[in-house]
Amino acid sequence: ILELIGLRKRFGALDALADVSLSVAPGELVFVLGPSGSGKSTMLRCCNLLERPDEGAVVLEGRDIAARGVDLDAARKRIGMVFQAFNLYPHLSALANVTLALRKALRLPRAEAEARGMAALDRVGLADKARNMPGQLSGGQQQRVAIARAMALEPAVMLFDEPTSALDPELVDEVLAVMRELRAAGMTMLVVSHEMRFARAAADRVVFMDRGAVVEQGPPERIFEAPRSERLRAFLSRRA
Ligand code: ATP
Ligand code: MG
Repeated sequence: ILELIGLRKRFGALDALADVSLSVAPGELVFVLGPSGSGKSTMLRCCNLLERPDEGAVVLEGRDIAARGVDLDAARKRIGMVFQAFNLYPHLSALANVTLALRKALRLPRAEAEARGMAALDRVGLADKARNMPGQLSGGQQQRVAIARAMALEPAVMLFDEPTSALDPELVDEVLAVMRELRAAGMTMLVVSHEMRFARAAADRVVFMDRGAVVEQGPPERIFEAPRSERLRAFLSRRA
């Protein structure tokens, strides 16, 4: 459903991405790990063209959206993104944060946007907090609102960039539980995270990136129990 082919991205003299190819099949959860600076965020940002790759293709539902002349707004509606910092509007309620995207991006009328927004909040277990402002929610709840906002657009694929890294440890599990439910419901997901337990429990495939390249990928058991490359072995032993 999403395929990255030969992506390169240079920042000055630095090869942030040096020929990254990766595919995510419908309903698959692909988990990406790697050291700081290895290009994980840059790769995700290239998926929705927040960053324009210097070379390569980003094929979404059969179309290269990195090609010239593509309607980026239309393509971006098919991709949901959840960041480490939740990026909610502080002056809008949880529900208004979700419906704003629906009204702006999909141009839904208010009543329909609110119905869909409430359904999305319900799916992340926050229907009773719809009227709360972000400041009246815990970090974990704010991140669940951010997930509801992305999900409400019914994207073809959802991208997560370290969705639990900014959270207190006791709030991490509630966000991971929501992500696991999304996966069970058939959502296609590309997740950058350091939560190895989540990878073991929920990932179909784990991709290890280092220095702007995919070094190794495979099912979680294989990657964690029998890493092939020296770099992955070193990375895992540092984190153990
Ligand atoms: P982390 O685990 O710390 O989030 P990452 O794997 O997400 O790291 P990226 O953020 O993709 O790494 O960065 C890859 C490399 O590209 C880094 O060396 C970073 O400093 C550099 N980089 C990223 N964005 C820019 C930018 N806009 N301008 C210049 N250099 C950048
Ligand atoms: Mg990053």
